[in-house]
Amino acid sequence: MIPLRIKVEANADQPFVVRLRSFEAGACEQRTEELNPFDAALGRVGPEGADYVGQGGPIRILGIDPSKVDGDVLLVNPRRGTADRLIRSSSQHNTFLVTERCDQVCLMCSQPPKKHHVDLFPHFEAAALLAPEGATIGISGGEPTLFKARLFEFLGRVLDARPDLSFHVLTNGQHIEEDDRGAMSRIDQGRVVWGIPLYSCDPTVHDQIVGKEGAHAQLLKNLALMCRLGAQVELRTVLMRPNADGLPRLARFIASTVPFIQTWAIMQMENIGFGRMNWKTLFYDSSAGFDVVGRSIDLVRSRGIDAWLYNFPLCTVPEPYRHLAPATISDWKRAYREECDTCSLKAPCGGFFEWHPASHGYSNLGAIQ
Ligand code: SF4
Repeated sequence: MIPLRIKVEANADQPFVVRLRSFEAGACEQRTEELNPFDAALGRVGPEGADYVGQGGPIRILGIDPSKVDGDVLLVNPRRGTADRLIRSSSQHNTFLVTERCDQVCLMCSQPPKKHHVDLFPHFEAAALLAPEGATIGISGGEPTLFKARLFEFLGRVLDARPDLSFHVLTNGQHIEEDDRGAMSRIDQGRVVWGIPLYSCDPTVHDQIVGKEGAHAQLLKNLALMCRLGAQVELRTVLMRPNADGLPRLARFIASTVPFIQTWAIMQMENIGFGRMNWKTLFYDSSAGFDVVGRSIDLVRSRGIDAWLYNFPLCTVPEPYRHLAPATISDWKRAYREECDTCSLKAPCGGFFEWHPASHGYSNLGAIQ
C-alpha cells in the first residue's frame, strides 16, 4: 500500500507545511529560482535518509525514495517525527480529512466518528495552494460542514487564488441552511462537487442506516436549498442489504424529486471501520443480484441523469454496464487478487480495497479473458 504518512526528522516546534523538490543532487542551484518559500530542495541522499533544505530549515525524510515524493506537499509534525502527505503530486486521489467528528453514525462508516477535533484549515490552505496545476482535491471527514464557516472561507480563498483547482466535498448534507446563502455564493460552485449520501427514498430506512432520526427529511430540504444555491450535487448510495431491494424505488424518486442532481453514484461497501463490524449483515452480493442495480441505473439514465458504479470490481458487473464502473478506489488503498494477474480488464478495473476480506463475498468473480 502507498504510505500516506512517512517518517521525518525536523528541527521545529510546531507543525508546518513543506513541498519537497527532489531535484537531482547538484542541480539545486540552477533550480532555486523555481522554489517558493514552502519548498525544500533535496541536498543529499545517504543511508540515514534524504536531506532537504528550504527557507523553513532542514528536514530529513526516512524510509522512502526521494523520487517517490517529488512535488509532494507534507504536513510535518516534528514532535512526532512524522509527516502526512497531504498532496501526492503523482496522484489524482488527494483528500484532506477536515475532522473526525460527525453527527451521524452510519452503519457502514469507514471512518467511525471521534470527538477530538483539531482545526487544520491553515495547513490545508497552504497545501492546496501548492497543489499541482489542475488538481481536484477531496474534502472529507467525519462531517466537514460541522465547521462550515471555516470550510466556506477555505474554499473561497483557495478557489480565488488558484483558478485551476477544484474540490470534491463529502458531506452528509445536514447543515447547509438558508443563512449560508451569502457564504455559498462567494464560492465558485462550478468548481465544487458536493458528494451527499442518500440511501433510500423511505425515510425510516435512510434514518436507520445513518443512525439519526429526521435525517432524511432534513437532507431533502437541504438538497433543494443547495440546488437553489447553484451547488453541483453527486448523490451517493452505498449498496447494502437493507436498501438493495428498494434501489429501483430510489431511482424513481431521484428522477422525479431531485432531477437537478449532477450524478448518482451507486457504491459498493468498504470493509473497514463500522463496515467491517457490520459486514455480515450489510454486504450485498451485487454479482449475484445485479438486477436491482441495472434497473435503477437504466431508469435514471433514461431520464438524462448520469449514474455510475463506484468501487465495483469489473468482473462482478455484467458486460453492458462495465463502462459505467470507473476505477474509483483511491490508488493508495487499491489492491488486486491473484486471479487479477491474468485478467484482460485489470488496467481499467479499480480492483478491491486493500482491506477487502479474502472471502470476498462475490459469487461471480474471476479473470476475464
Ligand atoms: S479479475 Fe480482478 S482485475 Fe479482473 S475484473 Fe475481476 S477484480 Fe478486476
